[in-house]
Amino acid sequence: MPTPGGRHAGRGAALAVDLVCGREVDEGDVDAVTGHVAGGAPERAGGIGAKRFYRGRWYYFCSLECRLRFMATPDAFIEDIGGNA
Ligand SMILES: [Zn+2]
Repeated sequence: MPTPGGRHAGRGAALAVDLVCGREVDEGDVDAVTGHVAGGAPERAGGIGAKRFYRGRWYYFCSLECRLRFMATPDAFIEDIGGNA
């Protein structure tokens, strides 16, 4: 099967950290179900994860529940990791 985009970095190559619960989320798994459209990703409760585009970058979450908690107070979670200036 040809893969759109052609990238095949292998599993575990792109792990994001869920800022809400601290769990590691495989970005590839989330992208596979949500697509790459900023702000327009369909909501899927497939148990794989969720992501959200906020302030110029994607944030990944283990579940829609964590994403909802993030969106309630996004700055609180972002400030918690101190940023990277
Ligand atoms: Zn989570």
